[in-house]
Amino acid sequence: MTQNCQQATARLKINLAAIKQNYTVVAAQAAQAECAAVVKADAYGLGMAEVVGCLKDTVETFFVAQPEEGCTLRALLPEKRIFVLHGFALGRPEILAQNRLIPVLNSLEQIRQWRSFCAQDGCEHPAALQFDTGMSRFGISEDDLTDDSLEEFRPVLLVSHLACADQVDHPANEMQRERFVRMCRAFPGVPRSLSATSGVFLGQEYHFELVRPGVALHGVLPNGGISPFKPVVTLEAQILQILSIKSGDFVGYGFAYRAQSPMRVATVGIGYADGIFRSFSGSGALWAGDKRLPVLGCVSMDSLAVDVTQLTAEECKEGDWLSIIGPQQDVTTIAEMTGTIGYEILTSLGRRFARYYYGL
Ligand SMILES: *Cc1c(COP(=O)(O)O)cnc(C)c1O
Repeated sequence: MTQNCQQATARLKINLAAIKQNYTVVAAQAAQAECAAVVKADAYGLGMAEVVGCLKDTVETFFVAQPEEGCTLRALLPEKRIFVLHGFALGRPEILAQNRLIPVLNSLEQIRQWRSFCAQDGCEHPAALQFDTGMSRFGISEDDLTDDSLEEFRPVLLVSHLACADQVDHPANEMQRERFVRMCRAFPGVPRSLSATSGVFLGQEYHFELVRPGVALHGVLPNGGISPFKPVVTLEAQILQILSIKSGDFVGYGFAYRAQSPMRVATVGIGYADGIFRSFSGSGALWAGDKRLPVLGCVSMDSLAVDVTQLTAEECKEGDWLSIIGPQQDVTTIAEMTGTIGYEILTSLGRRFARYYYGL
């Protein structure tokens, strides 16, 4: 996305070679299984077209959340296998079949509607089936397995999702895995898929026939720990103005910061409307090279203030760019500073950045 007038005050750079390499790393971790790619929510906010563009030579199977996303992806990838995690909107199964999208059927009602649609259409359109193994979010329960609607049903994939896979020692992992294995026995021989990124790192017994990483491709390891992935995103914002203030002066909304001594304050062109959460106030910082510039006061919608007193006038001028996500501070660090997770940082990245894709 290049802005028409090239005046964006924040720029996001996305390393497509790193995405490709991260896919290879996670796929190697689950070498016995097929490795799909999850590209829901516009590929975690990074741009579906560009992200699938760099994966399509190596990846055969993709997942999105919503039918709408599936239609977008189908237009980009005419030949790949595409699963839609939410299945189809009740009453509208034909949209998926027309686009050769494979619904993940989550409820008995979805199963009934899909099967009756297939019967009317005279074609067994492929579908996956999700089991609720403990998360109580999507999928049929163990009791549902005996329901009439499943008689002679042959899904192409069995799916469930781990709730606590980012905590390696959480007992829910093994509990869900056991229940998944048990429920899958109702459909012998059908390929199984339990793990997203974190699950892949729980070990081979969590891989089954297909794994579904998403956030891994974008360089984030949810388990904490040392990431084997390459960082994908860098985010920089431009200094719009530099002000010299006196001891006792205030900065920003609510006068939330008060200077204890004379200082220089840079107003930077990025704010909460760009995904820099207000909780970045206080704890957050931007960087000029290896110099840490603390955020002062509240983050505004379109700007924030940082302390640039330590930099000389030459080191820091209006129009200069400061780093927000980069070598000094990665997505996970920002997430910790703002009390959230890397996923939310990525999917909140603003829509008005100048975006640059590179690496390939
Ligand atoms: C989002 C999602 C994934 C991918 O999860 P990551 O943690 O990003 O790897 C896989 N499966 C389901 C069902 C999901 O909702």
